[in-house]
Amino acid sequence: MKNFVLFGKPGSGKGTQAEYLSEKYKLYHISTGDLFRKNISQNSNLGLLAQSYMDKGELVPDEVTIKMLENEIKENPQSKGFLFDGFPRTIAQAESLDKFLKSIDMQINATIALDVDEEELISRIIDRGKTSNRSDDQDIEKIQNRFNEYNMKTSTLSKYYKDQKKFFEVDGSGSVDEITKRLFELIDSFNLP
Ligand code: ADP
Repeated sequence: MKNFVLFGKPGSGKGTQAEYLSEKYKLYHISTGDLFRKNISQNSNLGLLAQSYMDKGELVPDEVTIKMLENEIKENPQSKGFLFDGFPRTIAQAESLDKFLKSIDMQINATIALDVDEEELISRIIDRGKTSNRSDDQDIEKIQNRFNEYNMKTSTLSKYYKDQKKFFEVDGSGSVDEITKRLFELIDSFNLP
């Protein structure tokens, strides 16, 4: 069983690359952002709650996010491994994930960060906002706030995973194909069973 975390600032291409990685390595892709957006489109209580945070570019509270994530893992016991995209985003989320995986005899094998500078990210997000229908992609204040949240709460996770010797970084600039190639090369170098 292989479990990976894809890590990176908003707009760094986690979702795009996760599609390619999950296909090649037969991993079940879990994107907390997509799960929240699905709940919003279904008008569920969870969706309503999440929307009030996402609309401001703030993180959804840990308690809710962790519960949703654990349910998603439990509902897919047949999968060969998971690819977490956009989770964990706080130390509390990372700790609960470790604890939960341990309780079902699993662990994170590696965390891979996509490194892209903020200037490029802002222009990517604004471009995506023209077609994505995501209100958090269409307003510079919301975008800035997502970066602030990342810098305050998420960036410290690199240390958390470095301490566990599970942190790897890939240059996330360039074409989608180039980045996918870099990721494949890195994962193949792990020599996982
Ligand atoms: P991006 O990485 O471009 O911000 P996502 O789809 O991953 O896009 O996330 C969109 C929003 O969903 C975030 O700004 C946040 O409000 C919420 N969200 C997603 N994942 C989490 C998480 N792990 N914890 C808290 N909030 C989250």
